Amino acid sequence: QAGIVIIGAGQAGVQTAESLRAGGYAGRITLLGDEPHGPYHRPPLSKAWLAGEMDGAQLVMRAPEMLARKNIELRTEVKVASIDRAVKQVLLADGSALPYDGLVLATGSTPRSLPLPGGDAAGVHALRSRGDADAISARLALCQEQQRPVVVIGGGFIGLEVAATARKKGLAVTVLEAAPRLLGRVLAPALSDWYAALHRSHGVELVFDARIEALETAADGSVSGVRLADGRLLPAGLVVVGIGVNANDGLAQAAGLECERGIVVDACCRSSDPAIVAAGDCTARRLADGSLIRLESVQNATEQGKSAAAALLGQERPFTATPWFWSDQYDKKLQMAGLSGGAEAWAVRGDMTGTSFSIYHFRADKLIAVDSVNAAKDHLQARKLLDAGISPTPEQAADLGFDLGSLLK
Ligand code: FAD
Repeated sequence: QAGIVIIGAGQAGVQTAESLRAGGYAGRITLLGDEPHGPYHRPPLSKAWLAGEMDGAQLVMRAPEMLARKNIELRTEVKVASIDRAVKQVLLADGSALPYDGLVLATGSTPRSLPLPGGDAAGVHALRSRGDADAISARLALCQEQQRPVVVIGGGFIGLEVAATARKKGLAVTVLEAAPRLLGRVLAPALSDWYAALHRSHGVELVFDARIEALETAADGSVSGVRLADGRLLPAGLVVVGIGVNANDGLAQAAGLECERGIVVDACCRSSDPAIVAAGDCTARRLADGSLIRLESVQNATEQGKSAAAALLGQERPFTATPWFWSDQYDKKLQMAGLSGGAEAWAVRGDMTGTSFSIYHFRADKLIAVDSVNAAKDHLQARKLLDAGISPTPEQAADLGFDLGSLLK
């Protein structure tokens, strides 16, 4: 029996392996990862890990011994080069082949690179892996020593978390955002403004509608600054690029699986090949109305991992729960529930000038998402409301005297 091969030893790959065992699968499970490390948590890479507030043991998601105890064979530094669906085997970069009965694609995503002159200079980094975080850490230390500023390209979650961490270390930081506001695709305009004010209050320089012409380099080839189309030159000893990711669907595409901005899966994580499932950042989920949704979050990787394992065991476990996500910047924890795209109206619960509040997004009078800042209770309640399809009115949402929990009873 060839067993199940999992490509990608990240959040989704580990979850799938463990859920297979928990679901009673007794065959061979091989978990292949191309990184030098065993499975680790990515979210702290832009937060506590980068800030130096966490040790290596805390970053570990599953110790290799724990996986071994479950009879999950972890192989690191193994890159899968291709999939041969006709004979059901994967080909490794070293030329060897590994047969499978069932295959899991959990290959994650890759940061988009900057298609600009100087975009690949030393000192220009994206942040995805532990290796990236360590390279950024080393460069931050150099900037501290030489008193050189940091430029972050992209005012999304990763860019803003890195900006907050660099400010904690006392470095001068500028964030360049191509859009007119921060996190414009996900946050209500009022919350974008609130985040801009938060970062400015911590000394971050923000440039909106930024058009970047080139990255300047010094004689040794390392980055020295960022040139904007309006002629400004921002000196930099480190440039962090956080302009989004692309799903790693290359293996699947080459193998002829249906892909569109990611490996297309149904709610149960089945691909267009009955022997292959996919989970996590590498997927694009087909919704009932035919549209595709791509989520890049721990929750999505975890829930899809559970669904993928169930599908291989011949069970249906659709992942349809309300999406959620979090981001830590300074002492503020943002927790988001639901998908806010297409929101037409917003209600604020609490005081945006105070320490905690939530913003309720509505479309056609229906609650579609809630963003909570330092308001964990609102967040948990929002997930319950959204899961149950229950909408308060905007007036009820904004009224602190109204118990939203009463709608759930
Ligand atoms: P990954 O964890 O990326 O795992 C995929 C693995 O597959 C990688 O190790 C990759 O190297 C490997 N691989 C790819 N191709 C091959 C191949 N051909 N052969 C072998 N191995 C291969 N999410 C949140 O919900 N909240 C947060 O606050 C948050 N913060 C984040 C901060 C940072 C800096 C980053 C980078 C991500 C953050 N995320 C956060 C997103 C979250 O970490 C991802 O959505 C999650 O890790 C996705 O899991 P995955 O298993 O799909 O992919």
